[in-house]
Amino acid sequence: MRASDTDVVRPESPEQAVAAFGDGHGVTVFGGGTILMPTVSYGRYPRGGRTLMLDRAGLDELSGDGTVTIGAMTRLSRLAASDVQPVAAAAAQVADLEVRGQATIGGNLCAPPGDLQTALLAAGARVRSVGAGGERTEPIDDFLARGADDARLVLAVEFERPRRAGYISQRRAHAHSYAVMSVACAETGEGTRVAAGGLGLEPLRLTSVERALTEGASPAEAAAQAQDEVQPHDDALASAWYRRAVLPTLVTRALEQMQGG
Ligand SMILES: Cc1cc2nc3c(=O)[nH]c(=O)nc-3n(C[C@H](O)[C@H](O)[C@H](O)COP(=O)(O)OP(=O)(O)OC[C@H]3O[C@@H](n4cnc5c(N)ncnc54)[C@H](O)[C@@H]3O)c2cc1C
Repeated sequence: MRASDTDVVRPESPEQAVAAFGDGHGVTVFGGGTILMPTVSYGRYPRGGRTLMLDRAGLDELSGDGTVTIGAMTRLSRLAASDVQPVAAAAAQVADLEVRGQATIGGNLCAPPGDLQTALLAAGARVRSVGAGGERTEPIDDFLARGADDARLVLAVEFERPRRAGYISQRRAHAHSYAVMSVACAETGEGTRVAAGGLGLEPLRLTSVERALTEGASPAEAAAQAQDEVQPHDDALASAWYRRAVLPTLVTRALEQMQGG
């Protein structure tokens, strides 16, 4: 990237990062760069404006026994080595060691289709961010559904540690391919939450599966409800038909994993 293409700002604290982000207008946030660096190589990096490099800003807290707080700059390799489920399992299955050592949870949350989004949705995570209107903490469902013009700097995600959790992703053998689909489930204070990724740009809650579980269905019986709830798409990784056919098996396995089967 030529120095004249963008002004690079490198804050040394969370407070400086928040001040430099402002309302986010014209700012490109640079986390681990695993997605952004290739755009530099291919000449697609946003020109002009400001690049906010977060590598020295802190924002890498990983703490809490009851309520877990994960700073936006926490690397996936660190999460993979942690006991914070189902996020640890999701992080461990992303790409390879080199990518996980650089990639951050903030970048994964802001770059569809991030596999950790599925795990965070199942865990009922809240996202703390700043931007126009100041700081806010909102359910991940609302964060993911925000409009494209609502630029936010993610500071952290937090959630109550689930009693039990499961996570499974289906991917091709090559380490550099994204997951075809992922399923996460978590026993939270509000019951079992089940989420699936790879069925659209954002992960979605499988509420019919959750309802069936509440009514005493087995994992396989509950998982059978999933097909009616989704509208999969065709892409280079898999066809819609394939996704619909395989989803119940993934849901069953994730639930059995959570239940210790
Ligand atoms: C070879 C390869 C394989 C991969 N495989 C997978 C995979 O299997 N699963 C998967 O989920 N991902 C995969 N990825 C994508 C990527 O590595 C991850 O999604 C990663 O977590 C992105 O984080 P980052 O910090 O590197 O993002 P960056 O490249 O720094 O940024 C990505 C986007 O997020 C924004 N952003 C970053 N941090 C913040 C923040 N704190 N606040 C607001 N916006 C922010 C940036 O502006 C940018 O738009 C792969 C990437 C590569 C190169």
